[in-house]
Amino acid sequence: MFALRVAQGRGYSKARLRGACSLAGLSLPMPKLIDGRAIAEKVYADLRRDIAELKAKGLTPGLAVVLVGDNPASRAYVRSKDKMCRELGLHSVKLELPASTTQTELLARVDEFNRDSAVHGILVQSPPPEQIDEAAIVRALDPRKDVDGFHPENVAKLVLEDASGFVPCTPLGVQRLLLESDIEVNGAHVVILGRSMIVGKPLALLLMQKNKNGNATVTVVHSRSRNLAQITRSADIVVAAIGRAEFLKADHIREGAVVIDVGINRVEDAAKERGYRLVGDVAFEEVSKKASAITPVPGGVGPMTIAMLMANTVKAARQASFG
Ligand code: NAP
Repeated sequence: MFALRVAQGRGYSKARLRGACSLAGLSLPMPKLIDGRAIAEKVYADLRRDIAELKAKGLTPGLAVVLVGDNPASRAYVRSKDKMCRELGLHSVKLELPASTTQTELLARVDEFNRDSAVHGILVQSPPPEQIDEAAIVRALDPRKDVDGFHPENVAKLVLEDASGFVPCTPLGVQRLLLESDIEVNGAHVVILGRSMIVGKPLALLLMQKNKNGNATVTVVHSRSRNLAQITRSADIVVAAIGRAEFLKADHIREGAVVIDVGINRVEDAAKERGYRLVGDVAFEEVSKKASAITPVPGGVGPMTIAMLMANTVKAARQASFG
């Protein structure tokens, strides 16, 4: 069953997969495909119940998303966040500002949302144009509305294991994928490739937390790490978040490791109408033959990021109104 889902995720027919299985004598275990879309749907089902309960008490959670400039990828992300808010029945404010917006103008808009009681979460889409000091914008957010989890107060809460804080959405999504897939994190050696503030660093903090969803032994590698493949081969779970197309090869993992691919990279592909295709940081074809479970790109971590943004918005509304 899992084998079929892996292959279908990669566009193979059932018949072709069955042929491959029979050639393999069915003795080789096929990896489990971690279906981010299906798990995100489960998150949404839970959220719909939570939102209905809050609405019954007169509270509609609200999210404001601010886009500065016209970066096409950012525009697409903002559109999908707004769409998901609407599908869930949340109050959604989409503010599009010109690329020429100044720091002072943007700070004024953030301040308005900070004071707007119908808005419980605020997100300023990254990356902003270069005249904007992104760190200063993040610091200007009311930390209780910082649903991206980048404000220093929320970073501190993550370190301190204070559950009232907001954890960045992608790491939260990775943790949820692992939990929902019954992959034991407790006591496992997790190697994370990448140390960004958006993915690698908060994920390391999250998975090493002293609780039942954490307790991992975490190693973080980056562009200056020596013997990277030796380290990743010692992992029970490998999380790739470096932004390098198909970097992680079969040689980087041990037989039976779990592989989570956070990367989203465009590679030229003349066969595609748009001229490119999306690939992760993992060479899926070869790594999936060795992994016990793996996420596809697209359809793995990506759908979870937006689901966790919605979950953080609902949490922000609940905490703002009921503590
Ligand atoms: P980033 O800020 O550019 O950080 C990349 C990290 O990878 C850095 O720590 C860098 O090391 C490390 N690195 C780069 N090349 C490396 C190499 N050859 N070997 C080892 N480490 C290397 O990237 P990011 O924002 O974390 O994003 C990473 C990837 O995840 C991107 O493809 C991005 O599009 C994707 N992403 C996906 C989602 C999602 O929802 N699925 C969300 C966020 C990001 P140094 O620190 O030494 O420079």
